[in-house]
Amino acid sequence: MNFSNSYASLDEVFYERTRPTSVQDPRLFLWNTSLAEQLLIPNELKHDSAALAHAFSGNAIIPGSEPVATVYAGHQFGSFVPQLGDGRAHLLGEVLDQFGQRRDIQLKGSGRTSFSRGGDGRCALGPAVREFIMSEAMNALGVPTTRCLAVVATGEPVFREKTLPGAVVTRVASSHLRIGTFEFFAARGDHQALKTLCNYTIERHYPELQEKGQMPYVSFINKVIERQIQLVVEWMRVGFIHGVMNTDNTSLCGETIDYGPCAMMGVYDPQTVYSSIDRMGRYAFGNQPDILQWNLARFAECLLPLINADRTKAVDQVGPVIEEFSDRFEKEYMKMMGKKLGLTLIKQEDQKLIVFVLNRLKDRRLDYTITFDLLTKSLRSDAAASQLKNDLGECFDLWQKRLSEQHTVPQKVQELMRQHNPVVIPRNHHVEAVIQACEQTGKATLAEKFLQVLRSPYEELAQTSEYQDPPSDGDENYKTFCGT
Ligand code: AMP
Ligand code: MG
Repeated sequence: MNFSNSYASLDEVFYERTRPTSVQDPRLFLWNTSLAEQLLIPNELKHDSAALAHAFSGNAIIPGSEPVATVYAGHQFGSFVPQLGDGRAHLLGEVLDQFGQRRDIQLKGSGRTSFSRGGDGRCALGPAVREFIMSEAMNALGVPTTRCLAVVATGEPVFREKTLPGAVVTRVASSHLRIGTFEFFAARGDHQALKTLCNYTIERHYPELQEKGQMPYVSFINKVIERQIQLVVEWMRVGFIHGVMNTDNTSLCGETIDYGPCAMMGVYDPQTVYSSIDRMGRYAFGNQPDILQWNLARFAECLLPLINADRTKAVDQVGPVIEEFSDRFEKEYMKMMGKKLGLTLIKQEDQKLIVFVLNRLKDRRLDYTITFDLLTKSLRSDAAASQLKNDLGECFDLWQKRLSEQHTVPQKVQELMRQHNPVVIPRNHHVEAVIQACEQTGKATLAEKFLQVLRSPYEELAQTSEYQDPPSDGDENYKTFCGT
């Protein structure tokens, strides 16, 4: 593989050099063929499933890789933990993909490191399959995300509440730099390391800032905010609930990372929470923008000493950037919702229509994905229109009236809506059923079948209808777990 490791060439304060712990009987469970093409995985490896299982379980050290466990801190559910770090993951290094893009290759579930605390360093097959399915679905939906190259079953048990089959998942990311990485050094007052980290991150993800000469920390914060807004607006578009938006799970490159307790919202309700550990609903669907702002404020705080030695002056510079967040988010959110409703240009007064529609969905307990799919179809289908007339009442009329005022050809409106409204999402009950089948049979057949549909989320394939149904109980009793 085309390794070109930059993180491992930084000073050793950023990581620990450590090797994956071998597993008993590695077997390739899921393999991402198209991602493998992008990553230029060599042919002799690509077609040898035993060799792949060895390489992506950590049993064989892939030539060119330099495994490290990265160190980071983080605010978890609002409380600061000064040291987390890769407790069950090994960053093998970076490869340059077919587009020349630098991508991290990380094994997760690959054994203990000095950051494991009480953990076993392992991952169960279920959560590994879940990460593979969810991240593939998000990628196909057009949401920035880390991806999965492989899931390798280890042939070893992992002990949670129950004994479960173990797995190693290979995660591919633009990088694993997180807000928590900055927090680690900021909390220690290590300004030198912070500077190095800023330089590194800017060079890797925001190279346009380098031209500005002086270290552009405020612009850097601004850019990170911009990318995170784009990301979370996309989550809101498809109904994604991350479930554990801790600062160590907020990535500097703006990709969705950490598919632990995530879920998809069915019935539209901003208060939807599925994570069993999120008892206060901190990470509820509708709270995600506020939490993002909170996380970004923690990020900005880390950079204060670099902006000005006088903290008050630094705060004066950064404060407005954080305060602006709500308006910026709202603007992007409304633009996105406008597109879901087929509005080519969003006007100030459209906000009312958007809120009206969403409130109606909430009051009527309507499914988010199904309703927007129906709205899209209603442009061509009388059946869809009459159902919506029934479900949405006056909202539907107002929406149609607004569409007729914009004088856009119906085909263009239809295309715009289709691009923003999926016909299928990875619904929780299907994800769970597929995971269970994988665990029970030891085979990935149903996961592969599901993935085929999820990879075309804006198209109705022959099998799509098998996965569009909402849960019979409205997911009322659905709970997700961190999978640790
Ligand atoms: P996560 O919930 O996956 O974001 O993990 C939070 C922190 O706990 C990270 O530092 C992980 O490396 C660590 N961790 C989670 N599960 C395990 C495990 N089974 N063994 C060791 N460390 C773990
Ligand atoms: Mg994490």
